Amino acid sequence: MIWNDDFETLPREAIEALQLKRLQQTVARVQATVPFYRQHFARAGVSADQIRSLKDLQRLPFTLKQDLRNNYPYGLFAVPLEQIVRIHASSGTTGKPTVVGYTRRDIETWSELMARSFAAAGADKGDVIHNAYGYGLFTGGLGAHYGAERIGASVIPMSGGNTKKQIMIMQDFGSTVLTCTPSYCLFLAEAAAEEGLDIRNFKLRVGIHGAEPWSEKMREEIEQKLGIKAIDIYGLSEILGPGVGIECIEAQDGLHIWEDHFIPEIINPESGEVLPHGEHGELVITTITKEGIPLIRYRTRDITRLLPEPCVCGRTHMRLERMSGRSDDMLIIRGVNVFPSQIESVLFNIEGINPHYQLVVDREGNLDTLEVQVEVNEKTFSDEIKEMQNLSRRIRKDIKDLLGVTCSVRLVEPKTLARSEGKAVRVIDKRKSLDS
Ligand SMILES: [Zn+2]
Repeated sequence: MIWNDDFETLPREAIEALQLKRLQQTVARVQATVPFYRQHFARAGVSADQIRSLKDLQRLPFTLKQDLRNNYPYGLFAVPLEQIVRIHASSGTTGKPTVVGYTRRDIETWSELMARSFAAAGADKGDVIHNAYGYGLFTGGLGAHYGAERIGASVIPMSGGNTKKQIMIMQDFGSTVLTCTPSYCLFLAEAAAEEGLDIRNFKLRVGIHGAEPWSEKMREEIEQKLGIKAIDIYGLSEILGPGVGIECIEAQDGLHIWEDHFIPEIINPESGEVLPHGEHGELVITTITKEGIPLIRYRTRDITRLLPEPCVCGRTHMRLERMSGRSDDMLIIRGVNVFPSQIESVLFNIEGINPHYQLVVDREGNLDTLEVQVEVNEKTFSDEIKEMQNLSRRIRKDIKDLLGVTCSVRLVEPKTLARSEGKAVRVIDKRKSLDS
């Protein structure tokens, strides 16, 4: 179902006209109200009145996560604090969090875009939405919550953690839609199985998963283990939170980004050059309706490409290919670029192992080393040593053949790798501590 027919099916020319008008307003506003942007534009030798076409967007400088940190906590807000009704923050790996503020209208917009997203995933007012994204400073929980209420569904504000209780509630309350990270979704299925329950017999029919990159193979695994349709959702707190883009259930092929609120660009992450549609690079987003903290050409670090082809669902907003990783997460092993998601795809194609894995990167002398730790499943584990050796060899060979990376493989017993209730930790890079 299309939630907002008027906007979601606008012809291209109308989308672009609306984008230009909103872009001009936003740029003028941040130039007038945010000292950071006034200086940032001046240094780049550009000003708001020079934005006469969508192409002129490319004249504006990028905004980086570091710019939010440098202006911690409220320096990038474009309205006085009296107009901010909500504050969220995303935890950085080190130091201070990144802070974002929402006006009443921003919350309204967010609810609308999450409502569109739920509808695109096939959810409706008859649904019981089991929201296992964390509630708190993280935008996932409350973002999904408001959208679910907007479509008139019954929301269960579970938040993350407390897995046994999640399973009990899901079964007893008849949850039909599950929202959580993809790794937690598989963890729930595994935990249910441990209690002798088959989650496929529950009423669940759709899962909406995001907040970490996941592969097509992981989708198959989720769909098969939970007996649901698994939908990819995209968002980041700096831009809005969840609901920046989502796959439609009709195609499950690329995430529609809501172009009446955001302008996406793809750039070469090294040179900053804008790439044509269809080419892979880093996603850059400009918000064109946000009041609290509008961001101009924000570098998301997420790697994807834009798919401008029409979609079977009838929505006209462009699609983003599912994220293949973050430019920050890209590992360079002996000069070869590889994303954890690519290794994940290889692992999912091999019989006898579990989807749980961890990559340990280290350096011996001057040589990078990659160890792939993978859990084998119960059945394989009870087999002979020789079979385990064959399995290791197979994994090593497939990773070398498909990705060009040499690695060692360590098979571990079922359920020995740490499980996460939020974002999974897939990479331990010991080189970072060596360098610093
Ligand atoms: Zn579609």
